[in-house]
Amino acid sequence: SDRNPGQPEFLQAVTEVVESLWPFIEQNPRYVEHGLLDRLVEPERVLMFRVSWMDDRGQVQVNRGYRIQHSMAIGPYKGGIRFHPSVTLSVLKFLAFEQTFKNALTTLPMGGGKGGSDFDPKGKSPAEVMRFCQAFVSELFRHVGSDTDVPAGDIGVGGREVGYMAGMYKKLSNRADCVFTGKGLSFGGSLIRPEATGYGTVYFADEMLKTRGLSFQGLRVSVSGSGNVAQYAVEKAMALGAKVLTVSDSSGTVIDEEGFTPEKLAILMDVKNHHYGRVSDYAARTGARFEAGKRPWGVKVDVALPCATQNELDADDAATLIKNGVRCVAEGANMPSTIEAAKAFEAAGVLYAPGKASNAGGVATSGLEMSQNAMRMAWPREEVDARLLEIMKGIHAACVQYGKRPDGSVSYVDGANIAGFVKVADAMLAQGVV
Ligand code: NDP
Repeated sequence: SDRNPGQPEFLQAVTEVVESLWPFIEQNPRYVEHGLLDRLVEPERVLMFRVSWMDDRGQVQVNRGYRIQHSMAIGPYKGGIRFHPSVTLSVLKFLAFEQTFKNALTTLPMGGGKGGSDFDPKGKSPAEVMRFCQAFVSELFRHVGSDTDVPAGDIGVGGREVGYMAGMYKKLSNRADCVFTGKGLSFGGSLIRPEATGYGTVYFADEMLKTRGLSFQGLRVSVSGSGNVAQYAVEKAMALGAKVLTVSDSSGTVIDEEGFTPEKLAILMDVKNHHYGRVSDYAARTGARFEAGKRPWGVKVDVALPCATQNELDADDAATLIKNGVRCVAEGANMPSTIEAAKAFEAAGVLYAPGKASNAGGVATSGLEMSQNAMRMAWPREEVDARLLEIMKGIHAACVQYGKRPDGSVSYVDGANIAGFVKVADAMLAQGVV
């Protein structure tokens, strides 16, 4: 912590991983050597830059831009761009660190990175969003490339923003290579990429439920968030027969005891994706109950899918969920559970998947988008979806292999950390001290 003052999220992520890896490392001394862990907790490169742009009133605005290039050990840096006022160096360093393990778990050749800005897209006009994206890329472009660093979307960065950034990248570089993933279908995007993180989280949870002879059919499910990941988690959970009771955003939670339907989800998508509105607007349009300032974790459910942001589920929330009989928690967001909450789930025997395992379907499908771009081809929807499902099953199997406890139960936390670590660590050892 002396080395990284004022970086609580980064220290939280490192603590969680190192605590979980330590017993494994002690049994495998080759991983103690060559300063491996010391190197792994230090990003290879941290870029911070000024983003100046002009708002609609003609005023100059200044934001801070970042790109964390954490590890290139197994492939080009890969990870999303986040635009949210809560973005700090600490948040992006934690995300880039986690991303390195997650990308290794996908089995695809991608290193770890993350970037973003404290820019708040809420309340900005479409023209302001475009000008900001262009200003951001006018610096970022010199640091990225299809074999160097391949960004994608994240909170506050969806298809629209990726499009503006990819367009500016082409203009500045005079290259048509596809340096962003999550692109629109008309210029190199992959089918299923928008759905991939949410679908993948539900596929992963389904694999976990199977280990206890369960399926989503008839289960009560809570989802937090209402953005890209949440929307497609709702869709897939419904498709598998679950009753989805909640969505949320930073203003509060919608609770619908009748459960979501495809028609209601279409309204949510219209509110969020076309009007950039709030879940309270959704509640007003559908008559669902809106609880201002509340999170969804008080609702009695079998499965909880946190899909909003880091540290949105704390020890008290975990205790409530456990008391209410939750059986499975699969994270669509990155590090939504605090360390205490995660420990409480594991101690109570709840099937608990950390985001680096259960939400890896997004980046995995970005990897598939890179492969299609490199081949100058586009696969059909069914093919991408089938590959996504196989990858999620593979990550589940890796977690079971590396996370099995002596009593036969599985720690998905240990499994994900160890499986991801082994791949990155072996690659680093093979490539010498660089
Ligand atoms: P979106 O911007 O589409 O949606 C984010 C959602 O989370 C919104 O409902 C937002 O509400 C809510 N949210 C964001 N910040 C906060 C906050 N500080 N407090 C409360 N709620 C908040 O982002 P995504 O759906 O893409 O991302 C959601 C999570 O999933 C993130 O943790 C992201 O890192 C992770 N993830 C995303 C992947 C992807 O492919 N997109 C891949 C893997 C992980 P509001 O609008 O009110 O801010």
